[in-house]
Amino acid sequence: AKSLGRGAACVFDPAMDDSAQARMALERDLREALATDAFELHYQPLIELDGDEVKGFEALVRWRHPQRGLISPATFIPLAEETGIIIQLGEWILNQACREAAGWPSDVSIAVNVSAIQLRHRGFAQTVLLALAGSGLKPERLELEITESVLLDDTEANLQTLHLLRSMGIRIAMDDFGTGYSSLSYLRRFPFDKIKIDQSFLRNSDESAEGAAIIRALVGLGASLGITTLVEGVETEDELAAVRAQGAQQVQGFLFSAPRPASEVAPFFDANRKR
Ligand code: C2E
Ligand code: CA
Ligand code: CA
Ligand code: CA
Repeated sequence: AKSLGRGAACVFDPAMDDSAQARMALERDLREALATDAFELHYQPLIELDGDEVKGFEALVRWRHPQRGLISPATFIPLAEETGIIIQLGEWILNQACREAAGWPSDVSIAVNVSAIQLRHRGFAQTVLLALAGSGLKPERLELEITESVLLDDTEANLQTLHLLRSMGIRIAMDDFGTGYSSLSYLRRFPFDKIKIDQSFLRNSDESAEGAAIIRALVGLGASLGITTLVEGVETEDELAAVRAQGAQQVQGFLFSAPRPASEVAPFFDANRKR
């Protein structure tokens, strides 16, 4: 079948293994999902520890598959990145997140994950500005989460884009902080507004003191640079107590809430108002 050319190497090619077939099927489904509006955003609260207030929400994409149910982004984001589908999907995510957040109280912000491939794409800044204009959301309410891998290549161009967005009032957070290389030098090269400390440090702090020591050091570093620190993945009261003691300003995790559909976020606003 190979001699028939790439286009003809269809899913029935007996030489192709199951995983390659599954991948092709997934890619085809992914394109169809974009066309049929099969993605949805779930929102997880970001909690300010001083006063226990919900400062905002992180938008996390899910795919509602007709046969397979709700599919996790870990399954399809990497493939969307490899195939370039992330450009269109990312645009949809930005528009949807801004539209939904525009209906929330004006002091509640929205954090949107941005893939390295999206940021590197020429029209990215324009896409963000159009999402804001189209929804009426103020730039000050939008936070973009990027991982440090974003800064690994095309550094100058990426830095320029981030500076441009930041100059418009959009905040930039470094996600999964501490899991890649050179994190510390990036903090010097780019003025992040927030660092999100990866949950692996929290998980390890149960068994060893090292995770706790690292969180404490990162929080201290953030404080001295004027950067907000958030610890991800807080699941238990013990972890929350530890993170408070370490001095972090914000937390996020299942202890407060799992990511929820847009229709279920309103009770968090009411909780804020009661205080
Ligand atoms: P992330 O940006 O680090 O998002 C946090 C992940 O941790 C989410 O998984 C969230 O559900 C999970 N989480 C939150 N609290 C806890 C907790 O207390 N314990 C544990 N064990 N996990 C917790 P999710 O939604 O499956 O997303 C996985 C990853 O997929 C994200 O990691 C992000 O890298 C990517 N992703 C999700 N949505 C988007 C998106 O809209 N665009 C892009 N480019 N990537 C996305
Ligand atoms: Ca994130
Ligand atoms: Ca993260
Ligand atoms: Ca992650």
